[in-house]
Amino acid sequence: MQAEGVTFRTGVLVADLPDGTKVTNWAKETVTPDQLKAEFDAVLLAGGAEQSRDLPVPGRDLQGVHFAMEFLPQQNKVVAGDKLKGQIMATDKHVVVIGGGDTGSDCVGTSNRHGAKSVTQFELLPMPPEHEDKPLVWPYWPIKLRTSSSHEEGCQREFAIATKEFIGGEGKDKGKVKALRTVRLEWQGGKMTEIPGSEQVIPADLVLLAMGFVSPVGSILDAFGVDKDARGNARASTEFIGGYATNVPKVFAAGDMRRGQSLVVWAIREGRQAARAIDEALMGASDLPR
Ligand SMILES: Cc1cc2nc3c(=O)[nH]c(=O)nc-3n(C[C@H](O)[C@H](O)[C@H](O)COP(=O)(O)OP(=O)(O)OC[C@H]3O[C@@H](n4cnc5c(N)ncnc54)[C@H](O)[C@@H]3O)c2cc1C
Repeated sequence: MQAEGVTFRTGVLVADLPDGTKVTNWAKETVTPDQLKAEFDAVLLAGGAEQSRDLPVPGRDLQGVHFAMEFLPQQNKVVAGDKLKGQIMATDKHVVVIGGGDTGSDCVGTSNRHGAKSVTQFELLPMPPEHEDKPLVWPYWPIKLRTSSSHEEGCQREFAIATKEFIGGEGKDKGKVKALRTVRLEWQGGKMTEIPGSEQVIPADLVLLAMGFVSPVGSILDAFGVDKDARGNARASTEFIGGYATNVPKVFAAGDMRRGQSLVVWAIREGRQAARAIDEALMGASDLPR
């Protein structure tokens, strides 16, 4: 792609930040949406959907409670050979991962590889059956217990459990998470109720929040003036004509930023189709495959 003339500019955050805003990511430079719109004939928004779902219960601000996406990318960087200061480590810690999906599974695996003392994973929903009930679920996503290689490396899995509070330590551990207060749940007709008397205190020195992603990060879509769908993603269709175009002239959107947190295969497909849509918008026609 470089040989074909693509210029890659890494460490650049696209944002319209008020003066003095502290940005806590790895960008070294900022470019505003207005600069991009002025300099380029087309802009494709493909910034993903990594705004994590939070758990705003008492104690959320204690040290040691992190989003999965604060924890996992650091390890990716280390694996790629970068030296990091202050990496979040699970070594010798009781780790609780909140969220039973794929991101949670990645946290389980990484914590085990760090040498955690124990790894426990919480899921709000009840434990699914080992095998899906095909006639009941087809053609939808088959609901069954999924055990990843991360789980096989060691993990206590708890289902139908909710976290009520993060509990801090005392003395030298003041301000640091030391335990979670939990409650067991009963599910009936898709509704959950807390089971009275089922509260427990579970030790935790590191809590990783992996409860899914709600939308693209921050106010980037607002900064471009791009309309959002009901879930906060960029509004753009995948139609043959006019697909991937947003309401803002010259601005297109694809991948997770358009469809919400999804899969790599969808990002690849949308990237290719968006490339064709942009070629067509610029040239009037396109030979690119759709
Ligand atoms: C922990 C985790 C595990 C996953 N595991 C799998 C899996 O096993 N299989 C699978 O198929 N999918 C998996 N996914 C989903 C998959 O990663 C995404 O669907 C896919 O990467 C989306 O591609 P994208 O190009 O749309 O966005 P992304 O891959 O998210 O890329 C967006 C890029 O834009 C950058 N960016 C965002 N905002 C700005 C800005 N304002 N300025 C500059 N740059 C910006 C981000 O830093 C990022 O590099 C996983 C996702 C997560 C979070």
